[in-house]
Amino acid sequence: MSDISHLLEHIRDVPDFPKEGILFKDITPMFQNAEAFQAAVDMAAEPLMGEGIDVVLGVEARGFIIGAPIAYKLGAGFVLVRKAGKLPWEKTQATYELEYGTDTLEIHKDAVAPGDKVLIADDVLATGGTASACISLVESLGGSIHGFSFLIELAFLNGRDKLAPHPVRSLITYD
Ligand code: AMP
Repeated sequence: MSDISHLLEHIRDVPDFPKEGILFKDITPMFQNAEAFQAAVDMAAEPLMGEGIDVVLGVEARGFIIGAPIAYKLGAGFVLVRKAGKLPWEKTQATYELEYGTDTLEIHKDAVAPGDKVLIADDVLATGGTASACISLVESLGGSIHGFSFLIELAFLNGRDKLAPHPVRSLITYD
């Protein structure tokens, strides 16, 4: 069995969550399974080894779970992007549209240094609103986007178009 088909077995479709019409890709089973979690992190990190990434940015909350071990494997730092009101120090923010609603994300002002090469990691690329808010946050601090790493891409929502021209890599794509 390929690593990807092993991963697919650990993604649970939850219809109408968090609201009607959304088919939620629940990846908690993937995190719970030791081999699947390790394979997902390895497959996401390995193509990026040696690319000189300074920091991996993870988006609250599942982006922390996948982003932190990728950063560890790459020998990079890890930067937290959180929902409004959670970070304790001086921060900058960006408001964005979700597949289901709007939200505001924040980053500490010293989390990215000018010229840092930043990889943005998250579990799911849906409409691309979250990820493009992260572009604004990184660029407002003078960082340079190296690219994006997602476990899952919902290609029918065309989120990738919002992230051009930055490279986007996804382990699993649903058309
Ligand atoms: P978006 O900003 O539309 O690209 O949405 C991406 C964020 O929302 C990710 O951080 C995901 O965790 C979450 N998300 C959006 N749609 C889904 C979905 N269908 N299944 C699971 N997570 C989703």
